[in-house]
Amino acid sequence: MKLMYTSHLLPVAVALGLLAPPALAQSADQLSEDVQRYVHTSGPVVALTNVTVIDGTGAAARSNQTVLIEDGRITGLGAAGEVTLADDAVVLDLTGHTVVPGLVGLHNHMFFTSAGGRASQANFTAPRLYLASGVTTIRTTGSRRPYDDINVRADIERGLTPGPRIHITAPYITGMDGATQMAQIGSPEQARRFVSYWASEGAQWIKAYTAITREDLAAAIDEAHAQGMKVTGHICSVSFREAVELGIDNIEHGFATASDFIALKEPNVCPSNLMVIVGNEADPRGPVAQEVIRTMVDANVGMTSTLAVYEPFIPNRPTRDSLTLAVMSDETREDYLEAREQIDTNPDFPLTNTHFEKAMEFERAFVEAGGLMAAGVDPTGLGGAIAGFGDQRNYQLLVEAGFTPEQTVQIMSLNGARILGVDDELGSLEVGKLADLAVMEGDLTSDAGAIRRVKIVFKDGVGYDSGMLIEEVKGRVGIN
Ligand SMILES: [Zn+2]
Repeated sequence: MKLMYTSHLLPVAVALGLLAPPALAQSADQLSEDVQRYVHTSGPVVALTNVTVIDGTGAAARSNQTVLIEDGRITGLGAAGEVTLADDAVVLDLTGHTVVPGLVGLHNHMFFTSAGGRASQANFTAPRLYLASGVTTIRTTGSRRPYDDINVRADIERGLTPGPRIHITAPYITGMDGATQMAQIGSPEQARRFVSYWASEGAQWIKAYTAITREDLAAAIDEAHAQGMKVTGHICSVSFREAVELGIDNIEHGFATASDFIALKEPNVCPSNLMVIVGNEADPRGPVAQEVIRTMVDANVGMTSTLAVYEPFIPNRPTRDSLTLAVMSDETREDYLEAREQIDTNPDFPLTNTHFEKAMEFERAFVEAGGLMAAGVDPTGLGGAIAGFGDQRNYQLLVEAGFTPEQTVQIMSLNGARILGVDDELGSLEVGKLADLAVMEGDLTSDAGAIRRVKIVFKDGVGYDSGMLIEEVKGRVGIN
């Protein structure tokens, strides 16, 4: 059927999904009864008063603020007394709390892998944990079960399940020697066919992995751009500088995955033991690092920091957070703690805290040079970086790395929104934007640990009860 886009057919076209509807916020009465159970605060008008605001733009934190939310959007933001409250406003006095924009998680899979070779799709736990932790927008950044991701997104949009806004990434693409759960691409033609199929299924991003060849990555990038999609990668066989030259849009992880640091790297080959060699030998502010950073900054290629997934591989880091352990299934927890114990008690373990500090130093150098850095949890590896909680851990680790609270909030909100191309509507607390924000107990400007005490998370101006969402997933991470 062909439709003419004349004005009287516009509602039909919108209903058929042929045209994007205007960005309307999802109101509480559009949520199913099941999702309404989690709603803490809703109303046409909600006012958050006496809060400390870190707005996500990098501007200095401001105390004693009022945030006004109407019909899902921020309509007022200013010092107490500057913002006029309507009589019908639901007023929350949030003295002693901090408000930040809803976090934008750029490496936020809908699956979970962990110690002992465990892998599970997390349709139940991941959307709840992301939302509960203040992460209101995610990019899946590589999928193992793409139709689960697509269907969960549809359920969230229809108000059938609580969760964040989801930017869909296709299954991973890698080379012929790559991992078996990924699409092994053997020719540029296959790369184009893959990209065009996933574009037709609504994927917005392609994720390249460590064994892809330059020729196939080039074809994937070219086809993705022709289809209006973007490409990111956890790359290795292709160096950061090569990928930027090929036109990649975003690069995952940073320092420890940059094969640029290997002096005699063979083309199209991922050097074995890259993380250990780079950690031992590379200088995060040396000439190679500076050239990599300059190449990325000049091409406006952003980088996704994922410190939380790296940390559990480092001996004697604080990696036994009680809430993280409580949401794991019993077997997942046992395997995780056993793996952690082996790392902490092995004097010859090849990764060290110095490696971790170098990765942090590279991220600081990248941002100092004007690089666009975002962050994401990457709920894989040993399993210690859980959906949402690992994003919160990233906040603490970025502060440990030396970023200010304002810089860190910007990295985790507005910068991610910029990379996704949604910063006109999301990513910062500004009048006119959609009301996605996280309310936490404590003063985040002086206590990074406050990020772990998120109490209410607003998405589209509807406030969800964080504790209730977390309660429901206890013992289930690693199962579903
Ligand atoms: Zn990943």
